[in-house]
Amino acid sequence: MKIARCKHCGSSDVTQDALAAWEEDAQQWRVTSVLDNSDCNACGGEDCVELVTPEHFEVQQLIGQEWTNAWLADDVSQTFSTKREAETELDNHMADQLDALRHGEVQDIVPREHFRIAGIGEKAE
Ligand SMILES: [Zn+2]
Repeated sequence: MKIARCKHCGSSDVTQDALAAWEEDAQQWRVTSVLDNSDCNACGGEDCVELVTPEHFEVQQLIGQEWTNAWLADDVSQTFSTKREAETELDNHMADQLDALRHGEVQDIVPREHFRIAGIGEKAE
């Protein structure tokens, strides 16, 4: 499986310009050609989108300016073979944080937007 990501910051919050034609029967737009221009919504980069075939996925956390493996301190091998597994782990982590906040165990939580799922791997052909 390929994923689209920003070659600068690694975010998958990216868009690629394309042309679309209206399909009257289906009542929706269908992409007819993909153009060269692309944008990253995370870092504002332009023409920075690449398709990669990830070997695994990890949950990353924004620490200062750097995205790092969020669970590295707990378990170095904490990577996931599918994006869904990583999303489930992050969902569980957010639920745990909210629980801890509700029970007064912590004063603050790390917001969801400071986490992301990143595909780690090679550029696709
Ligand atoms: Zn970016």
